[in-house]
Amino acid sequence: MSDRPELIIRNTTVVDGSGARPFVADVSVSDDRIVGVGTQGDSAGVQIDGAGLVLSPGFIDVHTHDDLAVLIEPTHRCKTLQGVTTVVVGNCGTGPLTDRALLGFGNEVAASWSNHAGYFELLDREPASCNVGVLAGHGTIRTEVMGRHENRAASSAELDQMAEHVSEALRSGALGMSSGLAYEPGTYAPEEELADLASVVAEAGGVYTSHIRNEGAGLEAAVAEAIRVGERSGVAVQLSHHKAAGRDNWGRVVQTLAMVDEARARGVDVALDQYPYTAGSTSLEQLIRQGALGGDSVSGTRPFGDLNGDQVLIGSAPDKPEIEGRRLSDLAAELGLDLRAAAERIVVDGGNGTFAVFEIMDEGDVRTVMTHPLTLIGSDGIPAGGKPHPRLWGTFPRVLGRYVRDAGVLELGEAVHRMTGAPAKRFGITDRGRIEVGAFADMVLFDPDTITDVGTYEDPARPPVGIHGVWVNGRRIVTGQNHTGDRPGRALRR
Ligand SMILES: [Zn+2]
Repeated sequence: MSDRPELIIRNTTVVDGSGARPFVADVSVSDDRIVGVGTQGDSAGVQIDGAGLVLSPGFIDVHTHDDLAVLIEPTHRCKTLQGVTTVVVGNCGTGPLTDRALLGFGNEVAASWSNHAGYFELLDREPASCNVGVLAGHGTIRTEVMGRHENRAASSAELDQMAEHVSEALRSGALGMSSGLAYEPGTYAPEEELADLASVVAEAGGVYTSHIRNEGAGLEAAVAEAIRVGERSGVAVQLSHHKAAGRDNWGRVVQTLAMVDEARARGVDVALDQYPYTAGSTSLEQLIRQGALGGDSVSGTRPFGDLNGDQVLIGSAPDKPEIEGRRLSDLAAELGLDLRAAAERIVVDGGNGTFAVFEIMDEGDVRTVMTHPLTLIGSDGIPAGGKPHPRLWGTFPRVLGRYVRDAGVLELGEAVHRMTGAPAKRFGITDRGRIEVGAFADMVLFDPDTITDVGTYEDPARPPVGIHGVWVNGRRIVTGQNHTGDRPGRALRR
């Protein structure tokens, strides 16, 4: 078949996803696979001049909350326009066990399903433009078995039921399991429960991703717990969106990265990912319940620390869009309420899916984490409407523009590796993340001199610049800043 390629990108600079140095070549595609890398002869197929541009594997977004978004708006422009060809859904403990489980992460979806297999079948029937890998969500599963507010250990019967849901996910093709230990109900789960369920994941060779219990004052203890879960269960542990949250804690990523290195030296398989911004985002309700705006914390651990009203922007408020992009301090003054009371009012008035964006990280820490060799890139974007955190639209071009080209924090080949070949390996995604003969033709063609994110906190939903083309399974989904409408994505089964 290699003598009849349907697509040839000629004279392009190939950054192949392995971390190797860039090289110039022609890359040819037949059906859904790459069939030639090197000088290619004449062809009747589509020819694209790639001179001066970089062709890399499509980006793999390892940390997303796109479970519903890929069903509701399957072209998934916020990700595909930035070169993302695979999203991993089901993070922070919230996974697609049922349609009910996902409410609050964007709009409701018309379809319904009642197990992970059902979610996979839906993706098969109504494919997105990008591929979708799935994690089971520990929090979703605990809610299904025990309810969301049970602050106690599971009984052995409940633990068995949770293990069966994890097992069903893995049999259906899930890549692993996530936890969200700063949130209900993950915050109520003792370490033993996590280790027991992680053993089920380990047996299947899956990955365990964790939004750890505390990213602020309790950061090291929370990292230590995640490492112990890996040690006890043998699972590969992925620390999600790694950071030190809150000014008092800035700099402590130096310690946590040393903990990661020390654990690996002992044979514990632990790694991490991050998004390239100094602001975080979560639901406003979570900030209230966790005591970040004053008052008590439901878990007693205050995982987001203390935020002041100037740090917090209302990102999305579906029922009250006029407050999107405004500061909580200003809204509280207008309402004549203290921060917590104002936020409580806004959660009610803003409706289901009211999200906040808040400044909590140090730029130096972002760079320190990025330079660690085990750090992958995951957007953690929240596909809500309004003014979502700009990471939703800009994460990957921002790494390549701001951090690779402008600041020199990473070499281009290394940065691409952490977005492609490395995450494919880490999450067990086969035949993707590389430009090589035989790999699936998930590819992005971009201009390394101009690629950058352009969204801001005030105007976040903007396609990046510098992307020339994006292909998924050999079919073109993006030309410049325009989506072709094609939906060649697949549900990726382990
Ligand atoms: Zn999270």
